[in-house]
Amino acid sequence: MTKQIPVRNPRTGETDYEITAMDAARIAAEADRLRVGQRAWAAWPVQRRIAVLREFRDAVARRRDDLIRVLVTDTGRLQVSVLEVDAVLAGIDRASRFAEETFAPADLSPTGDPTVRTTGDLVAYPVVAAISPWNFPFQLALIDVIPALLAGSAVMLKPSEMTPRFIPTLRECVAEAAGLADVFTVVEGDGTTGAAMIDAADAVCFTGSVPTGRAVARAAAERFIPAFLELGGKDPAVVTASADLDSAASALLWGSTINSGHACMSIERVYVDHRVADAFVETLVAKAERVRLAHPEPADGQIGPIITGAQVTTIREHLDDAVAKGATIRTGGSIEVLDGGCYLRPTVVTGVDHSMRLMREETFGPIIPVMTFDGEDEAVALANDTEFGLSAAVFAGTAEEAMAIGHRIDAGGVSVNDVCLTGMVPEAEKNSFKMSGLGASRMGPPSVRRFLRRRALLVRETAGPRPWYYDAATSETEE
Ligand code: NAD
Repeated sequence: MTKQIPVRNPRTGETDYEITAMDAARIAAEADRLRVGQRAWAAWPVQRRIAVLREFRDAVARRRDDLIRVLVTDTGRLQVSVLEVDAVLAGIDRASRFAEETFAPADLSPTGDPTVRTTGDLVAYPVVAAISPWNFPFQLALIDVIPALLAGSAVMLKPSEMTPRFIPTLRECVAEAAGLADVFTVVEGDGTTGAAMIDAADAVCFTGSVPTGRAVARAAAERFIPAFLELGGKDPAVVTASADLDSAASALLWGSTINSGHACMSIERVYVDHRVADAFVETLVAKAERVRLAHPEPADGQIGPIITGAQVTTIREHLDDAVAKGATIRTGGSIEVLDGGCYLRPTVVTGVDHSMRLMREETFGPIIPVMTFDGEDEAVALANDTEFGLSAAVFAGTAEEAMAIGHRIDAGGVSVNDVCLTGMVPEAEKNSFKMSGLGASRMGPPSVRRFLRRRALLVRETAGPRPWYYDAATSETEE
């Protein structure tokens, strides 16, 4: 029996769309079909795969406006929807360069044994399952798909059931790139569909929450397939007394509230030197109060609606808990319901500490809690007092001073004198630390390499000294 899944519109709060979940039997059949297509795809020279991906990119570019329109309906925000589509277009070119480098021909190289040289080839995982979240629906749906395809894998993608309206347009783009439909399929569904995909795939790329990531890791471990996990964060920022406070406040306001705070790499905790804290908070509040809600039209302001109903509850609970434990809301703080959509203006909170959920759990809202520190050691200890390790930011008078702190932060990417550079500059290889993820980098050249296993070929070129038992066996036979 097919399962219909209703989809909520975040600007109206109404259910006005639905998808049909693909069941486990069809997922298994689809994986078998992709496995057949993948054999020829992987055997092609990488340049041919790049050419197909270029056709796909052109199809996406032709539908740029359509894609933006459906993304705006799914998420309620405009500028970030534009950024998402453009990031995918740029990502195809970048990953194509990484793929060319990855498959550059290699000569036989010497080994420790002068009579043996080695080379190898790269063997793609046949079918990769890609499972993505709702916060950047289009960009995160394709961020692993493109490098996997370039590596020579086939891919089955399941975008989030919360934001699926771009799926029909994406399928049209796939159909327009010759041969791509044999190795790339986009399925609709929820967690049950996602779980069935893991049962049918040879590797899984998962972007989402820590609890689901744990379930995905368990399912993948049962099948001995790799799970590349990109999970949640509670990113800290440190602002020292020597920092340019105006520039730090602007950057942190953006980095905490972009996409209504629905970003894994959002700054969710700010630690500022106690000597400059008052001046910093005053500047931050003044800037926060100039930000406008994207209402009634998406183009009207910067802060769109909170995208899911569950996130409204989490945000409200974290703010209530902080206030109950003594925090002060300096600006923002109340969820406004406008025409059925739920909005929160940039919210600055002081008087916070690590007993509060706002400082420990992922909030995923446009909130900037600010806490003071006394000395670099305390700043580092506070920044590292978390189960997450996705990314961080440090602001100081010089890059050297900021980097000295950055080297001590237990996170996979640290932006120096800016925020969210890990997302904006995708060339830099990075891993996710602690509970924020697992596996090789999705950024930089490993984004392609991680879908390939290396098969070593070890070539005996001239007879050389053999282990003693060969000689013994030979002489016994001869006697
Ligand atoms: P989620 O974990 O609820 O869902 C993510 C995806 O997993 C969805 O497509 C869902 O249908 C699917 N899913 C659910 N149960 C499953 C199961 N048992 N097996 C397989 N798939 C299953 O996450 P979300 O609420 O959609 O996204 C928000 C989370 O994603 C936040 O925690 C955020 O920090 C994280 N995130 C991380 C990154 C990163 O790069 N590290 C980027 C964006 C978002």
